[in-house]
Amino acid sequence: MAEIFTLSTSQAKQCIDITTRVREIVRKSGVRDGLCHVMVLHATAALAVNENADPNIGVDLLAALDRAIPDHAGWLHDRIDNNAQAHIKAAILGSSEIIPIADGDFLLGTWQGIMLIELDGPRSPRRVAVTIIPAP
Ligand code: ZN
Repeated sequence: MAEIFTLSTSQAKQCIDITTRVREIVRKSGVRDGLCHVMVLHATAALAVNENADPNIGVDLLAALDRAIPDHAGWLHDRIDNNAQAHIKAAILGSSEIIPIADGDFLLGTWQGIMLIELDGPRSPRRVAVTIIPAP
């Protein structure tokens, strides 16, 4: 069973905690044990599991990515729509995560959350697909 939810981003580059949105889908599914696959359906956004308590983690991540992959650094794709940096970062970070489900909830560490990383915003809607796979 797959469910898609949408959100809007408000900045060019931004980390947004989507843990609560995904958790609602997990709980609603009624699945006690299994896997939760989460995928952002875009080529210029990414997902990561990381700390969600300190928002500066997301700020630092975006800053580190900018240092490694600067905007408009002669990327060939910039000739098309000027967002090559976003595609490169999205490819490196990845578009999906798989999270264990145990006792009807995520099996995440205390400091872990699911972050959507906007790399070419603001955009609306950004679509996220959640697929719940029950344990056999
Ligand atoms: Zn592009």
